[in-house]
Amino acid sequence: MKKIILLALNLFFGTAIISAQSIDEYFERIRHDEAALISFMSKMPKGGDLHHHYSGSVYTESLIEKAIKDDYFLNIKTMVAKRAPQEGNNWKKLSVLREEGKLNEYKLKMLKHWSIQYYNTEIPSDKHFFDSFGKFREVVNDYTAEGLLEFKERAIKENVSYIETQYKEVKVRLDLSEFKNANSKILSLASQKDTTAIFTIFDKIYESIIKQNALEKVAEFNAKHIENPHDSLKIDSDNFTMRYQNYLLRFMPPVDVFKSLILSSISDETSDLIVGVNIVAPEHGEVSMRDYWLHMLMFNYCQKKFTKVNYALHAGELTLGLVKPEELTSHINDAVYLANADRIGHATGMPYEINSSRLLRYMAENKIPVEVNLTSNAFILNIRKDEHPILLFKDYGVPIVISTDDAGILRTNLTDQFVTLAKSYPSFHYADIKECVYNSLEFSFIDIEKKKGLLKDLDNRFIQFEKSLP
Ligand SMILES: [Zn+2]
Repeated sequence: MKKIILLALNLFFGTAIISAQSIDEYFERIRHDEAALISFMSKMPKGGDLHHHYSGSVYTESLIEKAIKDDYFLNIKTMVAKRAPQEGNNWKKLSVLREEGKLNEYKLKMLKHWSIQYYNTEIPSDKHFFDSFGKFREVVNDYTAEGLLEFKERAIKENVSYIETQYKEVKVRLDLSEFKNANSKILSLASQKDTTAIFTIFDKIYESIIKQNALEKVAEFNAKHIENPHDSLKIDSDNFTMRYQNYLLRFMPPVDVFKSLILSSISDETSDLIVGVNIVAPEHGEVSMRDYWLHMLMFNYCQKKFTKVNYALHAGELTLGLVKPEELTSHINDAVYLANADRIGHATGMPYEINSSRLLRYMAENKIPVEVNLTSNAFILNIRKDEHPILLFKDYGVPIVISTDDAGILRTNLTDQFVTLAKSYPSFHYADIKECVYNSLEFSFIDIEKKKGLLKDLDNRFIQFEKSLP
């Protein structure tokens, strides 16, 4: 029956460009036919993936292959892989496991511990997810060239033209020992919200960092870890572009977080390839929760100092049950009003925020998008379907971008995110979905000339795609 209708449509429209109305009708017809929907979304241009962590996005099979090829040591109890020999009976070389005929068994175990494949509910899903990084960290850090090329190849195959990956924590040699007592002082001032006194300490740390030739050291770091590999691997091409964000870790002591933020910002300001700064690690962790306001104040400080740098912040990756109810009310407010974030990642806690209507209106008016990560939120936070505030964002006109977060661990890709969007939210029509795709380039942090080129290319991709529909 469906075939006959489609044939009739084809006869009617001939080979002319299919009209917007008929694409919408076609889309509404297939949105509950999963196979047809997957086929549609695979081919649809998807613009950019703006919320993408390098280390969580390499597929686990690639990491296992790398660990076997380079004969890593595996802890057969915890599934942690290490390059160098380790003390204790639980560590075995992968070649030894092969000789013992146990390699396939351990490959499956690695897949289970390093991703959500075969996840059972023995341990909480958020813990399973965040613990997995520590198990394959050394492997993924040794896999950067292959990892970046893997992203590029996958992106081209699923019609994604741009990735902005959270790639590096900027590390250079600095001596900040004179500030070793500053942590407790800063925390005490933060508990009184004494911004002026905290900024005085920040000024001193900043001056010390600059005096220690941070600019030169960071330029060297950029060249070695990002610019040279990016060029020599020929990551950018006619049909694909990649840019990088630096990140800092929430659980570090305040002086270290601040240092990392300053270095990340300098790194961003001095390289065309580094386009943003982010903050990562579980938001509901003990230190993350205690220092959240202080971290947002650090971003406030840097927004004034580094006016050209873009900041995308994970904020409100929380829900009731994960933290106390009163801890759910301020993170997105602080990221938006205090840290002046240019984009917000996740924001699943939006319904719980104080004055959420005012906040949503502000984000809509000031074009502060939310990076929505549906599979990630479903697995880590158990938020799916109408528990997710995506319809709230839509109703208020907050720009939405669809992204993957950690496609490797979560066993997903950008196509799958759009399939989930279409299946779960019938009020997202084709035009809304197309708008999300355009948002993913409009709100990317890439420089304006490159952005124009990517948007023009996206227009052409959509013309080709829409022409190809039945
Ligand atoms: Zn993330």
